[in-house]
Amino acid sequence: MDTDLKSKRFFLGSKARNIAKLKDFLYLAEKNTPLDTSSFEPFPDDELGKLLNRIVAVYNRYAKEQTSLTKAQERAIMQTQEQIRNKKQLTQNISHELKTPVSSIQGYLETILNNPKLTPGQQHDFIEKCYVQTQRLSRLLQDLSVITRMDEASELIEKEEVSLSDIIEEELRDNSIQAGEKGISIHNNIPQGLSMQGNKALLQSIFHNLLINAITYSQGTDISIDLQDDSSTYYVISFSDNGIGIAPEHLPRIFERFYRIDKGRSRKLGGTGLGLSIVKNAILIHGGAIEAREREGGGLEFVFSMKKR
Ligand code: ADP
Repeated sequence: MDTDLKSKRFFLGSKARNIAKLKDFLYLAEKNTPLDTSSFEPFPDDELGKLLNRIVAVYNRYAKEQTSLTKAQERAIMQTQEQIRNKKQLTQNISHELKTPVSSIQGYLETILNNPKLTPGQQHDFIEKCYVQTQRLSRLLQDLSVITRMDEASELIEKEEVSLSDIIEEELRDNSIQAGEKGISIHNNIPQGLSMQGNKALLQSIFHNLLINAITYSQGTDISIDLQDDSSTYYVISFSDNGIGIAPEHLPRIFERFYRIDKGRSRKLGGTGLGLSIVKNAILIHGGAIEAREREGGGLEFVFSMKKR
Protein backbone atom coordinates (compact mmCIF):
# COMPACT_ATOMS: atom_id res chain seq x y z
CA MET A 1 0.00 0.00 0.00
CA ASP A 2 2.72 2.34 1.11
CA THR A 3 5.06 1.53 -1.82
CA ASP A 4 2.17 1.78 -4.24
CA LEU A 5 1.43 5.30 -3.08
CA LYS A 6 5.08 6.28 -3.32
CA SER A 7 5.43 5.05 -6.90
CA LYS A 8 2.17 6.77 -7.78
CA ARG A 9 3.53 10.03 -6.37
CA PHE A 10 6.79 9.57 -8.17
CA PHE A 11 4.91 8.80 -11.37
CA LEU A 12 2.71 11.88 -10.96
CA GLY A 13 5.78 13.97 -10.16
CA SER A 14 7.70 12.93 -13.29
CA LYS A 15 4.56 13.30 -15.42
CA ALA A 16 3.99 16.79 -14.07
CA ARG A 17 7.63 17.67 -14.71
CA ASN A 18 7.44 16.35 -18.25
CA ILE A 19 4.24 18.25 -18.92
CA ALA A 20 5.97 21.38 -17.68
CA LYS A 21 8.93 20.59 -19.98
CA LEU A 22 6.60 19.87 -22.84
CA LYS A 23 5.01 23.27 -22.31
CA ASP A 24 8.47 24.87 -22.42
CA PHE A 25 9.23 22.82 -25.50
CA LEU A 26 6.05 23.96 -27.27
CA TYR A 27 6.67 27.55 -26.26
CA LEU A 28 10.17 27.47 -27.78
CA ALA A 29 9.08 25.37 -30.79
CA GLU A 30 6.43 27.95 -31.62
CA LYS A 31 9.17 30.57 -31.67
CA ASN A 32 11.29 28.31 -33.89
CA THR A 33 14.03 28.06 -31.28
CA PRO A 34 16.20 24.90 -31.16
CA LEU A 35 15.77 23.11 -27.83
CA ASP A 36 18.06 20.84 -25.88
CA THR A 37 15.75 17.98 -24.90
CA SER A 38 18.51 15.78 -23.49
CA SER A 39 17.43 16.67 -19.96
CA PHE A 40 13.92 15.30 -20.56
CA GLU A 41 12.92 12.46 -18.30
CA PRO A 42 11.63 9.56 -20.34
CA PHE A 43 7.95 9.93 -21.16
CA PRO A 44 5.70 7.20 -19.73
CA ASP A 45 5.78 4.01 -21.72
CA ASP A 46 2.20 4.31 -22.96
CA GLU A 47 0.69 5.41 -26.24
CA LEU A 48 0.78 9.12 -25.34
CA GLY A 49 4.39 8.83 -24.16
CA LYS A 50 5.47 7.18 -27.42
CA LEU A 51 3.74 9.89 -29.44
CA LEU A 52 5.44 12.60 -27.40
CA ASN A 53 8.83 10.95 -27.95
CA ARG A 54 8.24 10.95 -31.68
CA ILE A 55 7.11 14.57 -31.72
CA VAL A 56 10.27 15.64 -29.87
CA ALA A 57 12.49 13.57 -32.22
CA VAL A 58 10.82 15.00 -35.34
CA TYR A 59 11.14 18.50 -33.96
CA ASN A 60 14.79 18.01 -33.15
CA ARG A 61 15.53 16.73 -36.64
CA TYR A 62 13.67 19.66 -38.14
CA ALA A 63 15.47 22.14 -35.86
CA LYS A 64 18.86 20.67 -36.85
CA GLU A 65 18.07 20.96 -40.57
CA GLN A 66 16.87 24.52 -40.02
CA THR A 67 20.14 25.43 -38.27
CA SER A 68 22.34 23.99 -41.01
CA LEU A 69 20.17 25.65 -43.66
CA THR A 70 20.49 28.98 -41.92
CA LYS A 71 24.27 28.54 -41.73
CA ALA A 72 24.42 27.70 -45.46
CA GLN A 73 22.26 30.74 -46.19
CA GLU A 74 24.53 32.93 -44.06
CA ARG A 75 27.58 31.63 -45.95
CA ALA A 76 25.87 32.27 -49.30
CA ILE A 77 24.97 35.82 -48.26
CA MET A 78 28.55 36.47 -47.13
CA GLN A 79 29.89 35.10 -50.39
CA THR A 80 27.56 37.32 -52.41
CA GLN A 81 28.56 40.35 -50.34
CA GLU A 82 32.23 39.53 -50.89
CA GLN A 83 31.62 39.20 -54.64
CA ILE A 84 29.84 42.56 -54.70
CA ARG A 85 32.73 44.16 -52.76
CA ASN A 86 35.28 42.62 -55.15
CA LYS A 87 33.34 43.78 -58.21
CA LYS A 88 33.09 47.30 -56.80
CA GLN A 89 36.81 47.33 -56.06
CA LEU A 90 37.58 46.04 -59.55
CA THR A 91 35.38 48.68 -61.17
CA GLN A 92 37.13 51.40 -59.15
CA ASN A 93 40.53 50.04 -60.14
CA ILE A 94 39.54 49.78 -63.81
CA SER A 95 38.28 53.34 -63.94
CA HIS A 96 41.47 54.54 -62.21
CA GLU A 97 43.67 52.57 -64.64
CA LEU A 98 41.76 53.89 -67.66
CA LYS A 99 41.80 57.48 -66.44
CA THR A 100 45.60 57.68 -66.39
CA PRO A 101 46.33 57.05 -70.10
CA VAL A 102 43.21 58.90 -71.23
CA SER A 103 44.17 62.06 -69.34
CA SER A 104 47.76 61.81 -70.64
CA ILE A 105 46.47 61.60 -74.23
CA GLN A 106 44.18 64.55 -73.57
CA GLY A 107 47.09 66.56 -72.13
CA TYR A 108 49.42 65.86 -75.07
CA LEU A 109 46.73 66.71 -77.64
CA GLU A 110 45.84 69.94 -75.82
CA THR A 111 49.50 70.92 -75.83
CA ILE A 112 49.65 70.44 -79.61
CA LEU A 113 46.36 72.32 -80.18
CA ASN A 114 47.21 75.24 -77.87
CA ASN A 115 50.75 75.71 -79.17
CA PRO A 116 50.62 76.28 -82.92
CA LYS A 117 54.25 77.35 -82.83
CA LEU A 118 55.57 73.92 -81.88
CA THR A 119 58.15 72.65 -84.35
CA PRO A 120 57.21 69.55 -86.40
CA GLY A 121 59.78 67.65 -84.33
CA GLN A 122 58.13 68.66 -81.04
CA GLN A 123 54.69 67.84 -82.44
CA HIS A 124 55.98 64.45 -83.49
CA ASP A 125 57.25 63.82 -79.96
CA PHE A 126 53.85 64.53 -78.45
CA ILE A 127 52.07 62.39 -81.02
CA GLU A 128 54.48 59.56 -80.30
CA LYS A 129 53.71 59.89 -76.57
CA CYS A 130 49.98 59.74 -77.39
CA TYR A 131 50.60 56.58 -79.40
CA VAL A 132 52.40 54.90 -76.47
CA GLN A 133 49.39 55.68 -74.24
CA THR A 134 46.93 54.26 -76.80
CA GLN A 135 49.01 51.07 -76.85
CA ARG A 136 48.71 50.91 -73.08
CA LEU A 137 44.96 51.44 -73.28
CA SER A 138 44.64 48.71 -75.83
CA ARG A 139 46.66 46.25 -73.67
CA LEU A 140 44.51 47.11 -70.70
CA LEU A 141 41.27 46.54 -72.63
CA GLN A 142 42.60 43.26 -73.99
CA ASP A 143 43.53 42.00 -70.50
CA LEU A 144 40.21 43.16 -69.09
CA SER A 145 38.29 41.32 -71.77
CA VAL A 146 40.17 38.08 -70.93
CA ILE A 147 39.47 38.58 -67.21
CA THR A 148 35.77 39.31 -67.79
CA ARG A 149 35.40 36.28 -70.03
CA MET A 150 36.94 34.05 -67.35
CA ASP A 151 34.83 35.62 -64.58
CA GLU A 152 31.47 35.73 -66.24
CA ALA A 153 31.44 32.75 -68.51
CA SER A 154 34.11 30.30 -67.38
CA GLU A 155 31.74 27.39 -68.01
CA LEU A 156 31.37 28.51 -71.63
CA ILE A 157 35.11 28.45 -72.27
CA GLU A 158 35.67 25.73 -74.82
CA LYS A 159 38.34 23.10 -74.37
CA GLU A 160 39.79 20.78 -76.95
CA GLU A 161 42.70 18.39 -77.27
CA VAL A 162 45.81 20.61 -77.55
CA SER A 163 49.53 20.05 -77.60
CA LEU A 164 50.94 21.68 -74.48
CA SER A 165 54.49 21.13 -75.70
CA ASP A 166 53.75 23.04 -78.93
CA ILE A 167 52.02 25.90 -77.12
CA ILE A 168 55.04 26.39 -74.85
CA GLU A 169 57.49 26.12 -77.71
CA GLU A 170 55.60 28.65 -79.87
CA GLU A 171 55.37 31.13 -77.01
CA LEU A 172 59.11 30.86 -76.33
CA ARG A 173 59.92 31.25 -80.03
CA ASP A 174 57.70 34.35 -80.34
CA ASN A 175 59.52 36.04 -77.47
CA SER A 176 63.05 34.81 -78.01
CA ILE A 177 64.26 38.06 -79.60
CA GLN A 178 63.06 40.11 -76.63
CA ALA A 179 64.77 37.67 -74.25
CA GLY A 180 67.98 37.78 -76.31
CA GLU A 181 68.00 41.59 -76.22
CA LYS A 182 68.03 41.40 -72.43
CA GLY A 183 70.77 38.78 -72.42
CA ILE A 184 68.43 36.08 -71.11
CA SER A 185 68.76 32.41 -72.14
CA ILE A 186 65.65 30.25 -72.07
CA HIS A 187 65.92 26.56 -71.11
CA ASN A 188 62.86 24.66 -72.19
CA ASN A 189 62.98 21.23 -70.54
CA ILE A 190 59.40 20.30 -71.37
CA PRO A 191 59.37 17.03 -73.33
CA GLN A 192 57.71 16.76 -76.73
CA GLY A 193 54.28 15.22 -77.01
CA LEU A 194 52.52 16.51 -73.88
CA SER A 195 48.85 16.98 -74.64
CA MET A 196 45.81 17.93 -72.63
CA GLN A 197 42.20 19.03 -72.81
CA GLY A 198 42.49 22.80 -72.70
CA ASN A 199 41.69 26.20 -74.11
CA LYS A 200 44.53 27.17 -76.41
CA ALA A 201 44.21 30.96 -76.00
CA LEU A 202 44.21 30.71 -72.20
CA LEU A 203 47.11 28.26 -72.10
CA GLN A 204 49.05 30.63 -74.36
CA SER A 205 48.28 33.53 -72.02
CA ILE A 206 49.68 31.58 -69.02
CA PHE A 207 53.09 31.11 -70.65
CA HIS A 208 53.01 34.49 -72.38
CA ASN A 209 52.49 36.41 -69.13
CA LEU A 210 55.04 34.41 -67.13
CA LEU A 211 57.60 34.80 -69.88
CA ILE A 212 57.04 38.51 -70.48
CA ASN A 213 57.22 39.14 -66.73
CA ALA A 214 60.49 37.22 -66.38
CA ILE A 215 61.97 39.13 -69.34
CA THR A 216 60.63 42.47 -68.10
CA TYR A 217 61.21 42.36 -64.36
CA SER A 218 63.64 39.61 -63.37
CA GLN A 219 66.96 41.22 -64.41
CA GLY A 220 68.28 37.65 -64.47
CA THR A 221 70.20 35.69 -67.08
CA ASP A 222 68.23 32.42 -67.27
CA ILE A 223 64.65 31.25 -67.49
CA SER A 224 63.85 27.54 -67.04
CA ILE A 225 60.68 25.60 -67.69
CA ASP A 226 60.54 22.09 -66.23
CA LEU A 227 58.02 19.31 -65.95
CA GLN A 228 57.99 18.48 -62.24
CA ASP A 229 55.33 15.83 -62.31
CA ASP A 230 53.37 13.94 -64.94
CA SER A 231 50.77 11.86 -63.12
CA SER A 232 47.78 10.16 -64.71
CA THR A 233 45.62 13.23 -64.05
CA TYR A 234 47.91 16.27 -63.72
CA TYR A 235 50.91 18.01 -65.17
CA VAL A 236 52.96 19.99 -62.66
CA ILE A 237 55.18 22.64 -64.22
CA SER A 238 57.88 24.84 -62.76
CA PHE A 239 58.61 28.20 -64.42
CA SER A 240 61.60 29.95 -62.88
CA ASP A 241 64.15 32.69 -63.38
CA ASN A 242 67.39 33.55 -61.58
CA GLY A 243 66.70 37.26 -61.22
CA ILE A 244 65.93 39.62 -58.36
CA GLY A 245 62.82 37.72 -57.23
CA ILE A 246 60.00 39.17 -55.16
CA ALA A 247 60.24 40.05 -51.46
CA PRO A 248 58.37 37.51 -49.28
CA GLU A 249 55.85 40.10 -48.03
CA HIS A 250 54.61 40.68 -51.60
CA LEU A 251 54.45 37.02 -52.66
CA PRO A 252 50.98 36.22 -51.28
CA ARG A 253 49.44 39.19 -53.09
CA ILE A 254 51.00 39.14 -56.56
CA PHE A 255 48.05 37.23 -58.09
CA GLU A 256 45.59 39.98 -57.08
CA ARG A 257 44.21 42.20 -59.82
CA PHE A 258 46.20 45.42 -60.23
CA TYR A 259 48.65 44.45 -57.49
CA ARG A 260 52.09 45.71 -58.44
CA ILE A 261 55.25 45.84 -56.42
CA ASP A 262 56.52 49.00 -58.01
CA LYS A 263 53.56 50.78 -59.62
CA GLY A 264 55.58 53.37 -61.52
CA ARG A 265 58.05 50.83 -62.88
CA SER A 266 55.34 48.38 -63.95
CA ARG A 267 53.42 51.13 -65.82
CA LYS A 268 56.59 52.45 -67.42
CA LEU A 269 57.43 48.95 -68.63
CA GLY A 270 53.96 48.49 -70.10
CA GLY A 271 52.44 46.37 -67.30
CA THR A 272 48.71 46.44 -66.69
CA GLY A 273 48.83 44.83 -63.23
CA LEU A 274 46.60 42.05 -64.54
CA GLY A 275 49.14 39.58 -65.91
CA LEU A 276 49.46 37.23 -62.95
CA SER A 277 45.75 37.34 -62.12
CA ILE A 278 45.09 36.18 -65.70
CA VAL A 279 47.64 33.39 -65.19
CA LYS A 280 45.99 32.27 -61.93
CA ASN A 281 42.44 32.30 -63.34
CA ALA A 282 43.49 30.45 -66.48
CA ILE A 283 45.11 27.77 -64.31
CA LEU A 284 42.00 27.50 -62.11
CA ILE A 285 39.90 27.05 -65.26
CA HIS A 286 42.20 24.13 -66.14
CA GLY A 287 41.52 22.52 -62.77
CA GLY A 288 44.89 23.43 -61.29
CA ALA A 289 46.55 25.69 -58.71
CA ILE A 290 49.59 27.96 -58.70
CA GLU A 291 52.04 29.25 -56.12
CA ALA A 292 55.01 31.60 -56.32
CA ARG A 293 58.11 31.16 -54.19
CA GLU A 294 61.70 32.19 -53.96
CA ARG A 295 63.80 29.99 -56.23
CA GLU A 296 66.60 28.07 -54.59
CA GLY A 297 69.72 30.08 -55.35
CA GLY A 298 67.71 33.29 -55.92
CA GLY A 299 65.07 34.42 -58.36
CA LEU A 300 61.41 33.59 -58.68
CA GLU A 301 59.73 30.25 -59.23
CA PHE A 302 56.13 29.57 -60.15
CA VAL A 303 54.91 26.01 -59.64
CA PHE A 304 51.54 25.14 -61.07
CA SER A 305 49.39 22.16 -61.89
CA MET A 306 46.92 21.60 -64.72
CA LYS A 307 44.44 18.79 -65.14
CA LYS A 308 45.00 16.71 -68.25
CA ARG A 309 41.30 16.02 -68.94
P1 ADP B 1 52.22 43.73 -64.39
O1 ADP B 1 51.20 44.11 -65.37
O2 ADP B 1 52.63 44.85 -63.50
O3 ADP B 1 53.35 43.02 -65.01
P2 ADP B 1 51.64 41.21 -63.10
O4 ADP B 1 50.41 40.79 -62.38
O5 ADP B 1 52.01 40.45 -64.32
O6 ADP B 1 51.43 42.75 -63.40
O7 ADP B 1 52.86 41.17 -62.09
C1 ADP B 1 52.76 41.76 -60.83
C2 ADP B 1 54.09 42.27 -60.33
O8 ADP B 1 54.92 41.15 -60.00
C3 ADP B 1 54.87 43.06 -61.36
O9 ADP B 1 54.51 44.41 -61.30
C4 ADP B 1 56.32 42.82 -60.95
O10 ADP B 1 56.71 43.79 -60.01
C5 ADP B 1 56.29 41.47 -60.23
N1 ADP B 1 56.89 40.38 -61.03
C6 ADP B 1 56.22 39.51 -61.85
N2 ADP B 1 57.06 38.59 -62.38
C7 ADP B 1 58.28 38.85 -61.88
C8 ADP B 1 59.58 38.26 -62.03
N3 ADP B 1 59.77 37.19 -62.84
N4 ADP B 1 60.61 38.78 -61.32
C9 ADP B 1 60.44 39.83 -60.51
N5 ADP B 1 59.25 40.45 -60.32
C10 ADP B 1 58.18 39.98 -61.00
